[in-house]
Amino acid sequence: MRRLFAPGTGVSAVNGDKSGVLYLCATPIGNLEDITLRVLRVLREVDLVAAEDTRRTRRLLSHYNIHKPIISYHQHNRRRQGRHLLERLARGDGVALVSDAGTPGISDPGEELVREALEKGISVVPLPGPSALLAALVVSGLPAGRFLFAGFIPGKGKERNRRLCGLAAETGTIILYEAPHRLVRTLHDLAEILGDRRACAARELTKLHEEVRRDTLNRLREHFATEPPRGEFVLLIEGVSKDEKLDGQGEWALLTPREHVDELVREGLTTNEAIKKVSRLRNLSRRELYKQIHGDLKN
Ligand code: SAM
Repeated sequence: MRRLFAPGTGVSAVNGDKSGVLYLCATPIGNLEDITLRVLRVLREVDLVAAEDTRRTRRLLSHYNIHKPIISYHQHNRRRQGRHLLERLARGDGVALVSDAGTPGISDPGEELVREALEKGISVVPLPGPSALLAALVVSGLPAGRFLFAGFIPGKGKERNRRLCGLAAETGTIILYEAPHRLVRTLHDLAEILGDRRACAARELTKLHEEVRRDTLNRLREHFATEPPRGEFVLLIEGVSKDEKLDGQGEWALLTPREHVDELVREGLTTNEAIKKVSRLRNLSRRELYKQIHGDLKN
């Protein structure tokens, strides 16, 4: 393709710029009808399609009777394939980037290719469309005016705890992607760290078994402990409310560590028990917190 479209306009470019265009094509997250006319047109006209999952993309393209060279571009070959794609773009080819599902660059390797293309002065054009996080947000019933998309939280280790604790002070709706086998554990950890807030589990959106469950974190955990989660999930959690009464769970995000320890002591824990709990919940060094509190107590 020789610059069939100027970025964003869909008309021929006449600026003599020889480099190609990288088109970020949003594709269905389930229902094949969720694809825009513009994405179909670009997929027909580009020189090459770079796909996270070539088999899935081939199925999508043949559903729309589109026949194009497809090369794979995924997490494990992104360095090598990224170089190849940048060379093709530099030669003037039009490349459509397509992820497994949804919008490329959201929790998939597209982000890196975009950065590299921009560094080389290559035009990047977004073709908006489905994204699991937005579909889940608008159907959740939780406030959509302000939200934090936190992607996938690591399955274990300190980083998991750090990322979960980092969500506690967020006032907007929190959106996570989660694998079904980790869902119950994550609901449990979220309830412990954020408190038993209102939440929503949106499953298999736009597919045959679409299900949207709106409840509290603990009740969702109880449900999925008996009905093992299947399919793809987006998890949404209400942000912390500034007006809410401080109950020592979750809303502590509005307290300093010192105030948090005091609050737990008022609720009946000993100072050391409170330090232990606060350091775990807030992912702080117990020794540092101990020194800070006991230092304060001496003064
Ligand atoms: N780029 C994609 C987007 O824009 O939504 C997301 C890619 S990420 C690798 C895949 C995750 O998105 C899944 O693990 C799941 O959490 C979520 N997801 C994708 N499709 C979904 C669907 N139909 N229903 C619910 N969640 C979905």
